[in-house]
Amino acid sequence: MQNRARRGPSTQRNRPYYKRKTCRFCEDKNLKIDYKSPQVLRNLITERGKILPRRITGTCSRHQRELTLEIKRARIMALLPFSVHD
Ligand SMILES: [Zn+2]
Repeated sequence: MQNRARRGPSTQRNRPYYKRKTCRFCEDKNLKIDYKSPQVLRNLITERGKILPRRITGTCSRHQRELTLEIKRARIMALLPFSVHD
């Protein structure tokens, strides 16, 4: 018997079925990534003010880049917290 790692399409069977996420900024053209609208950015950061990774939010790489930039801007403008204390 060969002892090799199982690879290939069968490995996908182990995964729970996730809802396919699409980038909300690609979907909704009216949704702007803007530091002046922190209510939009607030959905993409944790309660502690950390930026959520792409794999959680489903944001595409292009928009994620824009997002991090705007979140950082919003922090400087004191519209979003750098970190939240307990
Ligand atoms: Zn996008």
